[in-house]
Formats: sequence, C-alpha cells, structure tokens
Amino acid sequence: MSHENFIGGTFRPAKSGATDPVVNPATGEVIAEVPSSNGDDVDEAVSSAAEAFADWGFTTPRARSEALLKLADAIEGDIGELQRLEVQNVGKPVGMIEFEFDLLVDNIRFFAGAARTMPGSAAGEYLEDHTSMLRRDPLGVVVGIAPWNYPLNMAVWKLGPALAAGNTFILKPSELTPLTALRLAEIAADIFPPGVFNVICGQGETAGDALVRHPGVAMVSLTGDVATGRLIAENAAASLKRVHLELGGKAPVIVFDDADLATLVGTLAEAGYYNSGQDCTAPCRVLAAGAVFDSVVGDLSDAVGEIAVGDPLSEETAVGPVVSADQRDRVSGMVDRAREAGAEVTVGGSALDRPGFFYSPTVVANPDQRSELVQREVFGPVISVQQFTDEEQALRWANDVDYGLAASVWTGDVGRAMRMGRALRFGTVWVNDHIPIVSEMPHGGFKQSGYGKDQSIYSIEHYTELKHVMVKL
Ligand code: NAD
Repeated sequence: MSHENFIGGTFRPAKSGATDPVVNPATGEVIAEVPSSNGDDVDEAVSSAAEAFADWGFTTPRARSEALLKLADAIEGDIGELQRLEVQNVGKPVGMIEFEFDLLVDNIRFFAGAARTMPGSAAGEYLEDHTSMLRRDPLGVVVGIAPWNYPLNMAVWKLGPALAAGNTFILKPSELTPLTALRLAEIAADIFPPGVFNVICGQGETAGDALVRHPGVAMVSLTGDVATGRLIAENAAASLKRVHLELGGKAPVIVFDDADLATLVGTLAEAGYYNSGQDCTAPCRVLAAGAVFDSVVGDLSDAVGEIAVGDPLSEETAVGPVVSADQRDRVSGMVDRAREAGAEVTVGGSALDRPGFFYSPTVVANPDQRSELVQREVFGPVISVQQFTDEEQALRWANDVDYGLAASVWTGDVGRAMRMGRALRFGTVWVNDHIPIVSEMPHGGFKQSGYGKDQSIYSIEHYTELKHVMVKL
C-alpha cells in the first residue's frame, strides 16, 4: 500500500522528501516510513480542498449520501486489511477489534442518512412583505486532527459529518498511527472527486500547526489531549476559524451499596482495560461506598489478575501493549508516584519485561483525591478505587476534576440515579453500565474535555453555518 500523502486525488511524498518512522508497539520495530509534511505540503492540500469545495459544496445531499454509503461498503470490503493495519500499528488485540470497525462503518452510514435529513428550518414572514428562510451551509475546508488510540474511528467521526454537510476534508492522523488513514485514502480515491478527501501525515507541531494556522481552513476538529486542544484553540484564534475539541477524560464510576457488584466488576475488568486503558471514556476512577469498598477492590483485583496480556496477534489476548515507550513510562511513573504517596497497588503495577511497550493491568486502592493519579489522565491499564462516605461526597469528588467527558452511576435506586445524572458535570452519564456508544447519540465533553459533539445529528450542526436569507415580496 502507499505510504504517501493523498492530496488532490494523488499520492505524493512530502515536498521536502522527509519521512517519519512508524513503530509496531508490540515489538518496538519500525514497520513503515511516512511523509513528515510541513507548510508547503499543507498549502497544496488546502488549495486542492478549496478547489474541490467549489463543486462538492453544491452537490445534493443525495449525492453526498451515496458517496458516503459507497465508502462504508468499501471499508467493509477491505475490513481484514484495515484491521490488520490497526492491530500492527496500535497493538490492539485481534480478538477485540471487530467492535470498533462495526462502529465506524455504522457511523459513516448514519451520517450518509443525516446528510439527507438535516433538521429543516422555519420559513415564514416575520416582517411584513418579507419572507425569511434559514439555510445550513457548509463551511468550506475542514481539517480533522486525529489521536493514536482509535485512529480510524476518530478519523471517521470527523469525516462523516464534515463531508455529509458538504465540506471538503483534510485528515491529519497521529504521527504514531497513520497507516489506516493512508489505507482509507486508497479506498476513498475512486469514491470522492479529487480534493474532497485528503490525508496529510506529519508531526503535530509542523503539519498540524500549519493546518491550524492556514487562512484557507474554515474549521479544525481535534480529538486529542487537553494541552493540544488549548494550543490549537489559541493558534486558530488568529484566523478566527471554528474549533471543535474532543479532549481527555477521567471518568468516575460511582458505586453505591445497592449496586450489582458482579456486573460492575465484569464491566470494569473489560471496559477499564480495553485498548490497554487508552480510552478517553474508560472507567478509570472508581468511587465506592464504604459498605462495598473492600468487595469492589478484592473482586476487581482478582478479575484483573486473570486478564490475558500479550501478543495482539493471539486470539487469547485481551490486553496488548500501550502505544509507545513514552506512554508506558508515563503510566509507570504515575503508578509509582501513587504507591510512594501511600496508595496500595493490589494487582499489576509494573512494566512487563519483554520487547514492545507492555504494562500489566493494575488496580490502585485509596489514592488521595488531590493526587495526580485521581486528577490527571493516566491513559493506560490502570483503575483507581476510592472510598466515599455519602452521596454528597461521591458527587463532589466525581465532579472535582478538570475533565468532564463521561461518568457512570451504579445503584438500584432510580431516584438516586436521576439525581446523580442531573448533577454530574459530564457529557455522558451511564447508569448501571459504562462505555456503550451509539451513532445516534452525541459524544463530547463538559469543562476541559472540550466543546462540540461527535456522532449524532448534533455533530453535523458544528460542520455547518446558519444563514438567514430574507426576500422582499
Ligand atoms: P495529542 O494531543 O498528543 O495528539 C492528537 C493529534 O494532535 C495528533 O494528530 C497530533 O499530531 C496533533 N497535534 C499535536 N500538537 C499539535 C499542534 N500544536 N497543532 C496541531 N496539531 C497538533 O493526543 P494523543 O496523545 O494522540 O491522543 C490521546 C489523547 O486524546 C488523550 O488525551 C485522550 O483522552 C484524547 N482522546 C479524546 C477522545 C474524545 O472523544 N474526547 C477520544 C480519543 C482520545
């Protein structure tokens, strides 16, 4: 397959000829070299996308919908190769990857439908002898900047609504995980007119930054770290472009004494360690009532001790490596510092002595509410468990982080679940479950988890501009 940028319908290397290595995190070996793009490549991509917008922006919803449906079919037709690349590049276990691809194909089909059913707007006479109507127009060139944890899913969550709304699109994958984006370009090459869908590889501070600052770009949609989101919002401000930010999370799991503990522990042992815990909504911060705290810690530690860690190519594996040596060292450092500060590591708590970047699934009991482990994203296979005294403290601790992406409440008391659902400052609140996701419902943050929603009809609104047309009768 091609390892070059995809701009204006053709594959090409970076103009400078520079490349960045791509590493398999399960082995530490370099598996590809991809373009290390800079502002010159970005200029070309933006020109191509702007040129293509002149036509694509005026296509019918039906035409755009049909193109997106073809893309979904083509992805399904190539699913084996795409999954192979994601396994090799991110270290996702083969036995666990099907769900992610099912979700992303469904997401494209959802936006293919949404293209044709965007909520209609009022038309009427609000001033005598004048008819007003509202239009939702596409913005122009939209840039999607993706992270490394779900490379193809996060790309699709942005390209679906952007293209459905009539924008042209430039995807910048993470420098760590560009392979499925490049394969997607090959798949899309015959589906969209040249320049409608482009992929440009490179580092965040060069290629990414040039895209963010480019005056020809109307909107930047990032999924990434909070610090990156802040920087992008700041840098995009000079050209007043629209910014859509899906940032980090630190999801609390509030467990009351009437919770179904067996279901809870099963959910945590799977969802908390899925994708090696590198998930912005992962249930990573358990707050348990005093009466059930010991059982939660004990049962969870037992279950986590059973998780099969190892080669992502083995069907038996549930947890593979984390994405890089840096990420492994970050996880390791945070657990070590929590332990030194007095928290108890009840299972795991060390890097694995083998090639690649592996960290053992870990449970940490009783970290302090103000500690780094509770306040900052670990983004690794680590769950912390704290003990609360009453509902008021559970709520206060749950909300007492900068993030606000997702939370869950575990209780048999409907009133309590509703009270918590109202008061939790998070974009998604699950009751007696944690992690399920559907294309129809919005995904996005409160507070420093960012603004703008992915998925759902609410997402497509961010990729359009509202226009008032008033006609004198
Ligand atoms: P990151 O912020 O390091 O990188 C994300 C992307 O931003 C990459 O493509 C990178 O090249 C680019 N980038 C970095 N600096 C840039 C700059 N100055 N200008 C333009 N682009 C720049 O994030 P990551 O480490 O790849 O991903 C992990 C983070 O993503 C975590 O914080 C996680 O919580 C978050 N995340 C959030 C969601 C969500 O839906 N809210 C989903 C997945 C991941």
